[in-house]
Amino acid sequence: MAEAKRETLVIIGSGPAAWTAAIYGARASLNPVVYEGEPSREMIPGGQLMYTTEVENYPGFPEGVTGAEMMDAFKQQAVRFETRVVSENITAVDFARHPFVLTPSYGEPFEALTVVVATGARARWLGVPNEERLAQSGGGVSACAVCDGALPAFRDKVLAVVGGGDSAMEESLYLTKFASEVVLIHRREEFRASQIMADRVLNHPKIRVLWNSVVTEVVGSDYVEGIKVENLVTGEKDELSVGGFFVAIGHQPNTAFLGHALALTEHGYVRTPHAWRTCTSVDGVFAAGDVMDDYYRQAVTAAGTGCMAALEAERWLAHRGLGESPVLETAEAPVDEQATRPQG
Ligand code: NAP
Repeated sequence: MAEAKRETLVIIGSGPAAWTAAIYGARASLNPVVYEGEPSREMIPGGQLMYTTEVENYPGFPEGVTGAEMMDAFKQQAVRFETRVVSENITAVDFARHPFVLTPSYGEPFEALTVVVATGARARWLGVPNEERLAQSGGGVSACAVCDGALPAFRDKVLAVVGGGDSAMEESLYLTKFASEVVLIHRREEFRASQIMADRVLNHPKIRVLWNSVVTEVVGSDYVEGIKVENLVTGEKDELSVGGFFVAIGHQPNTAFLGHALALTEHGYVRTPHAWRTCTSVDGVFAAGDVMDDYYRQAVTAAGTGCMAALEAERWLAHRGLGESPVLETAEAPVDEQATRPQG
């Protein structure tokens, strides 16, 4: 049987974390290969930013940039340093042995000395008519108020938010800066959110809560014009005119392909147990971006952790004399070595 191909650094994903890891890995001569994924109904290469219209909070773009343009620029920068890109998913991993074995959708399984998992997360959608279509076309539907809420299109409009957790509270409070009114729609009669966040929402003069209510349809052809709402207790149906619709019912990290190969947090995100490090429960596997971060979830923080993951992979290899990377005399050892290093 032919010997399996062996890669030094494999990056799985195609958002800001993945491309930043690739730029750093390529410039460190690790010859990275990025498995950017393949388009599906739920996800396209480039990740969540592909569903964002204008990105105004990524430093370096004073005029703003579209999410798709930004991801294309990230990718081109990685390719400029000879990153190889494969438009396939990784469907299975074996991290119980080293070199690790990765199985792509169509290609042969191959070996990897280090892996950066940067597969991101996906926003949960309600699944009602016009919701995802208008989100993908920039039609005033969004799953991230912090990303999109400050856009001029949402100024002085009635904005609707759906959800009852901390995200929905945070998004509603954030949107009060721009909206004429925020209507928060929750399917039960009490919030899941922490008391302090719930209290802030309930005491805010610009926020009106519709309890026991669900959104059954988003109305609008090119841009959201309204939402259809049903009260689950009274059965009453209503249509509200809104200038923006924000879905805040949680996120789901893209970790299914990992099986039980890595330790996850209670919310299903890849666990990175050491502060300011991206190493995971498996030595030589690193995680970056939204797949390991359910707190910041920003393009700029994802890019930052992508950089960290590539540097850690480089140092991990160097400390083991693997690959072609030079031993960095000045670099601190990986945390697993520090843990076993004699003290004193
Ligand atoms: P979450 O806590 O899981 O809340 C999701 C909310 O969406 C719930 O209220 C749920 O309703 C509702 N929901 C789910 N599916 C729905 C559907 N199909 N239709 C209508 N409503 C639906 O998610 P999250 O708010 O994103 O928070 C995730 C984690 O991050 C939490 O641990 C949270 O504390 C944390 N977080 C913290 C902060 C902060 O501290 N500043 C900010 C954001 C998030 P039910 O309540 O009826 O189930």
